[in-house]
Amino acid sequence: MKPVQKNDRLLVHVEDLTHDGAGVAKVDGYPLFIQGALPGEDVRVHVLKTLKSYGFAKLLEIENASPHRVDAPCPVFDTCGGCQIQHLSYEGQKGFKQKMVRDAITRIGKLPDVPVHAVKGMEDPWRYRNKSQIPFGIQNGRTVAGFYESRSHNIADTDVCLIQTFEADAIMVGLKKSLLEMGIEPFEEQTHRGQLRHVVVRKARATGEIMVVLVTKKKKFPQAEQAIALIRSLVPDTVSIVQNVNPEKTNVIFGNETLVLWGKEVIEDRIGDVRFEISARSFYQINPVQTEVLYGQALEYAALTGEETVIDAYCGIGTISLFLAQQAKFVMGVEIVPQAIEDAKRNAELNGFTNTLFEAGPAEQVIPRWYKEGKKADVLVVDPPRKGCDEQLLRTILQQRPGRVVYVSCNPATLARDLRILEDGGYRTKEVQPVDMFPQTTHCEAVAWLELA
Ligand code: SAH
Repeated sequence: MKPVQKNDRLLVHVEDLTHDGAGVAKVDGYPLFIQGALPGEDVRVHVLKTLKSYGFAKLLEIENASPHRVDAPCPVFDTCGGCQIQHLSYEGQKGFKQKMVRDAITRIGKLPDVPVHAVKGMEDPWRYRNKSQIPFGIQNGRTVAGFYESRSHNIADTDVCLIQTFEADAIMVGLKKSLLEMGIEPFEEQTHRGQLRHVVVRKARATGEIMVVLVTKKKKFPQAEQAIALIRSLVPDTVSIVQNVNPEKTNVIFGNETLVLWGKEVIEDRIGDVRFEISARSFYQINPVQTEVLYGQALEYAALTGEETVIDAYCGIGTISLFLAQQAKFVMGVEIVPQAIEDAKRNAELNGFTNTLFEAGPAEQVIPRWYKEGKKADVLVVDPPRKGCDEQLLRTILQQRPGRVVYVSCNPATLARDLRILEDGGYRTKEVQPVDMFPQTTHCEAVAWLELA
């Protein structure tokens, strides 16, 4: 028998927060997930659904609020899927993320003694995103734009997003108002009708340059001139307006064809002293302030003297690689997306680096081949996607035994799993530094430093 039944109303004590930001209360050991509740709170709930080993309940009333509870400032916080923990103070958010990393390192990594430092967070944890991908649609005959509701493709219509730039707000609102007047139909996902699918706004923080990408269903775009004039009047710092054509029935944002409508093809940004050219579809870290902190941490752990050869696995457009190249003898970057490697090479050239080499391919295949060719690394940096390092890559590390490994991770669970494997193969995890790249959300980034024992 489950200790609670559907439609029960009860008072529970919230103990924990899941990685989705839901509160967790236990009733005789049976976990109930409660959206909106925070650890330490006593809350009245209505049980919505019970499964074999856990259930879901709706928050009715807070009897005892957490000292970390704050009013979420965003008007669509309750429906929008973009942020999960605006109702938690920023101090509380940092504490939550440190605990999330520490729990993973202890439970999954079985490394209770490894120091997990306090999260390096932002002074002002708002308006940080340098890229917004704004879906446009129609609801009840009105143009809507904002971000998707959680686990859905309904748009939570809004005129402000507090984690995006003011410029992105201005373009979102201005286009929303004038779209139909200009004769541009917003896209409807259900029926595949309409023209404008997404508007992507990118800002290069260091230079202030703005790029706007209009993702349209068809290439034919007779209102382009009007749209250009409107965007330029809304945001005078716009230097690049680009059209991307995506005719497919898909929820992937970009299609294959990209054309410059007005201005430049790229915008230029800097991370520290390194310059980057970013095109419409380039992968680029989202939080420019914290990217410097994250890469600075990776650089500190890499402890380069100028004599080392470094491999940067999962290098994207080579951002970490070029950061490292300032202090290393030689840096080799590998990344699976060929376009990103083209960007990396161009950016190396732009900065005048002659001590880098980039290759497109799966890290787990390219790196063993490099070693076979005698290209050895003293320090290996990895920055894999959420699923963590490929097993074959971990095996290569354990065979080739570079003296130092710096692991940049966007998922504490796979980080902990991979640290365990590296520990079992002879590495020691010295310390872990979480860095908050995504305030107001539950996403958590961390850098780990390992040495060969
Ligand atoms: N270090 C970069 C990008 C990190 S994101 C930065 O800081 O900007 C992870 C990257 O790993 C993505 O660019 C993704 O395309 C790439 N990737 C995914 N699987 C890969 C594989 N098997 N081999 C090499 N790169 C891979």
